[in-house]
Amino acid sequence: MSGGGMSGGAVRAPVRARTGFEDGAAFVDGRIVPIGAATISIVDTGFSRSDVTYDVVGVWQGAFFRLDDHLERFESSCRSLRLRLPHTREEMAAILADLVRTAGLRDSYVETICTRGVSRKGVRDPRTFENRFYAYAVPFVWLLPEADAETGMDAVIARTVQRIPTTSVDPTVKNFHWADLTRGLYEAYDRGARYPILLDADGNVTEGAGYNVFALVDGRLLTPASGTLEGITRRTVMELAEREGIPAELVALPEATFRQGAELFATTTAGGVMPITSLDGEPVGDGTVGPVTRRLRELYWEAHADPRYATPVDYGA
Ligand SMILES: *Cc1c(COP(=O)(O)O)cnc(C)c1O
Repeated sequence: MSGGGMSGGAVRAPVRARTGFEDGAAFVDGRIVPIGAATISIVDTGFSRSDVTYDVVGVWQGAFFRLDDHLERFESSCRSLRLRLPHTREEMAAILADLVRTAGLRDSYVETICTRGVSRKGVRDPRTFENRFYAYAVPFVWLLPEADAETGMDAVIARTVQRIPTTSVDPTVKNFHWADLTRGLYEAYDRGARYPILLDADGNVTEGAGYNVFALVDGRLLTPASGTLEGITRRTVMELAEREGIPAELVALPEATFRQGAELFATTTAGGVMPITSLDGEPVGDGTVGPVTRRLRELYWEAHADPRYATPVDYGA
């Protein structure tokens, strides 16, 4: 079961990719190219120094979800890293729509990237680099495979790796410093699971490999106030919970409190609200998708049709 199954309704004309763009489209050096042909310079410091920020926005049933919020976060991340974006928000929105239209995608995972770029004539002072903007649109990505939507996520609290301290890498700037998260993934695999959740140095829960986490404790939804990316899906869930009269709070979330959760779930653009049904090999609650998680997941997909959130893509004739 996926979000798509829930909304039924209008029959839409099929959209077709421009020939050669069936697997996705990318914007590189001012041109749109097939995703498989998109390349960057080996001396771009986005690659060699992780000197980069990015964002990911979803397209669902032909419309971007919270496009402006994603672009605003992206711009703010660039400012924070002192990167100069070569495009305005309107230009970026137009490029992204162009990519989705070219790839002919109704449901898409759309990424924007800004790198420090390439040094001019070997000068290593990063202030002098020409910053680069890249973007691409590929078919929608499910971090929890659709077939597992009811089975849920098998998570572990990582024991062998901590989240990078926020004093070293600001987690509110979406970044490619994934060494801790990737180590967490391997720990999870070694323990027979797939989804790590990392703690900080004080033993508080932070987040996982591309997802925020929530625990339903004594009827309140708790999610970490700091040490994480401020996910747009997280924000959406907080807003939906408020509308439903479910108290939701940003808190310091000790591991022990998280473990008390009657329900646990994770949130990300790449999949929405994803139930966590096992933790460290033990069932969460009765091991099935809990009613609050289920309700929020439904509301999350319904919100994609809300005109306050949706920016329709013009696919042309
Ligand atoms: C992208 C990401 C998330 C989820 O953010 P959304 O805006 O909801 O997609 C959470 N944690 C990390 C580390 C991420 O990179």
